[in-house]
Amino acid sequence: MSIEQSIVRQAVEQFGEHKQKLKAISELAELIDALAKNAIDGRSNDDDVIDEMVDAQIMLWQLKTMYCNDKFCERLQFKLERLKKMVDQAKELTDSAMVR
Ligand SMILES: [Mg+2]
Repeated sequence: MSIEQSIVRQAVEQFGEHKQKLKAISELAELIDALAKNAIDGRSNDDDVIDEMVDAQIMLWQLKTMYCNDKFCERLQFKLERLKKMVDQAKELTDSAMVR
């Protein structure tokens, strides 16, 4: 177990799943807010986004300790393969447009 896994597992055990799920909702909302302000009108800077990304990542790791199972891994694999197909199709369109 990595040090990160150990810390996030301890956090879930210490504070409880319900409290950490609510914290995850809060941190993910903070990331959405910072990213929206950064992407739409520049009211937050890259450091603000990075800080909220780190908070969100830590909460995602905690959620993973609560929800990670075979179904999670199966859905992750499916969605990564779907994303790869979308990237490949977009690249084909870009490449064919450049040939013309
Ligand atoms: Mg935050």
